[in-house]
Amino acid sequence: MITPKIPNLDIQNVTNDVLLIHQKKTPFYFSCCDGLVILPRNGRNDLAIALDLNIEPNLIDEINRVYGPFSNYVCTHGHMDHMAHVYHWEDLGVKIHAPIPEDEYLLDLCNFYKGFRFNEDLDFSIIEKFANSNKYKPCSTVRSFNPGDALKLDDIIIETISFSGHSKGHTGFFLPYEKILHISCLGFDIPKSGIDGFGPWYGFNECSIAKYLEDINLAEKIFLQRAEFLTSSHAYIIKHPDTTPFTYMRRKIKDNQTKVDQALSTLKISRKEEINMDELLNLDIFFPKSKLQGFIVELYRFWESYIIEKHLKRSKYFQKDSHSNSS
Ligand SMILES: [Zn+2]
Repeated sequence: MITPKIPNLDIQNVTNDVLLIHQKKTPFYFSCCDGLVILPRNGRNDLAIALDLNIEPNLIDEINRVYGPFSNYVCTHGHMDHMAHVYHWEDLGVKIHAPIPEDEYLLDLCNFYKGFRFNEDLDFSIIEKFANSNKYKPCSTVRSFNPGDALKLDDIIIETISFSGHSKGHTGFFLPYEKILHISCLGFDIPKSGIDGFGPWYGFNECSIAKYLEDINLAEKIFLQRAEFLTSSHAYIIKHPDTTPFTYMRRKIKDNQTKVDQALSTLKISRKEEINMDELLNLDIFFPKSKLQGFIVELYRFWESYIIEKHLKRSKYFQKDSHSNSS
């Protein structure tokens, strides 16, 4: 099939009948993510299936016009860039599936607010503004699955993989017959080789760097042993046996640790008790908050405080310090 040109979309073939689709310009910071379209094939799926293709409604309509109708949509997790526009797939009569516990976040913004524990630090109005900027609307019905379940949609098997370092429900997909591993938001986030992105993202209380490192190992193992192609929510297609994504993600986590350790040194902190999160946040270690305005600053402060906190827990800065003092 010749790939049609749709303004504001990049459509690439992963295999003959599986596409990776990317929305180029997005309305706000966390509005959209790349996803897969599994085209219909005799004996496999009569109708097209969308995997985590959270793009704006007018573009969903275009995709549906060219490749539809669609029977099922599978969401990978409840971050805003993966759920804002899913309701529109449901408007088209598509069955929506999402992983527990984040399936609830697609149904009600309050669940998103409490589930990620924004409610401990931020007013709901901030989350409402965030959701409105990203054009979030809730779904009415979501079929839930447990990360790790195998989904049989029509006659296609979609193995789901729990990658919970990023969020409790965060799920990757493995298509065993198509040999495609979709790692979703694990942290390979560069649109082409040789440039740098943010990398693994762990800005909520529930995220874990230790789990993240295990997830990266697991993804690498599945990719090298079973897959031909690797796709992600914010990156280009990788072919076996290129291990760039894994090297990149591990390096980014290591670099983040260095950044936090350097910040401790910049602030001349000599004891853990002297750590002041506001001082660290004011250094803009990860996000250029001083250049931003409005509610988004509050959100970035919230996320960055968890990223910093996780690195503080893993920091060898104080150990090194006491060692050098005593030697
Ligand atoms: Zn995410």
